Amino acid sequence: MFVFKTVDSLQVHLARCRARGQRIGFVPTMGALHAGHLQLLDLSRQNNACTVCSIFVNPTQFNDAADLERYPRTPGRDLDLLEQTGVDVVFMPGVADVYPPGQQDELLPDFGSLDKVLEGEFRPGHFTGVAQVVKRLLDIVAPHQLIMGQKDYQQVAIIRHLIQQLGLPVELVMAPTVREEDGLAMSSRNVRLDPEMRQRAPVIYQTLRDFKEMLATFPPEAVEGFAMDQLSASGLRPEYFEIVDGDTLEPVTHPGSTARIVACTAVWAGDVRLIDNLIWKDDTLG
Ligand code: AMP
Repeated sequence: MFVFKTVDSLQVHLARCRARGQRIGFVPTMGALHAGHLQLLDLSRQNNACTVCSIFVNPTQFNDAADLERYPRTPGRDLDLLEQTGVDVVFMPGVADVYPPGQQDELLPDFGSLDKVLEGEFRPGHFTGVAQVVKRLLDIVAPHQLIMGQKDYQQVAIIRHLIQQLGLPVELVMAPTVREEDGLAMSSRNVRLDPEMRQRAPVIYQTLRDFKEMLATFPPEAVEGFAMDQLSASGLRPEYFEIVDGDTLEPVTHPGSTARIVACTAVWAGDVRLIDNLIWKDDTLG
């Protein structure tokens, strides 16, 4: 496994891989790796001769300085896991490698409402930071395939839009959410849950599952209300529970005529903010 900290050294290596005709798969992460990340890397390894994993805690996507400060960082353990997983290349840049002083900010496409709803409403500026760093990393790595997790459904929608609008030559693959045995979506933030909140947190996934059938009998806003009530009753503080069109992320008004429906939620468990989602309907899958 090769570990690079600078853009130049990474690019020299990747140029050799390309010259050998190898396909490059890319999994960007912020480290503190868990089985969710490893699944993305496995998927990349199945499809590409060379898998690159980046570890970079991107400051521009944190709208809260304390959240950036508290974000878990476990580089030694991450490298061990990546070695065991069979990753070919790890890219661990510093802030100045990704954002060289004096370099202009990326010109990003207009995301319409995609970056303003759901997470965008509660974390202003978050997706501009995400789009900025993914665009920079794609420019640096120039992979054939980019693999991202459904856990961050809105993030995938935004990056899909970015790739389409800028005509970037990369295939985007969305990998399913990996969960703990009790259903809690794996997240680097889970380590910060105290034992009581860790015990309550699985209700997030239960709620995403429990209320799906209700959409057949109740209007979406009513179902959202029931779900919010269940989350609150469990001692968590839900920020939103929204039933949205899986393509536009707009609220669903007519479930019957919407091809893809996703329920998305963000919940505070103590001082840890968790997000999760479940695809409730997908007519585009045979
Ligand atoms: P992060 O390090 O949190 O920025 O995540 C890096 C990538 O891993 C993103 O594409 C996430 O969507 C994905 N990811 C994080 N958690 C999970 C999970 N539990 N299951 C699948 N993918 C995940």
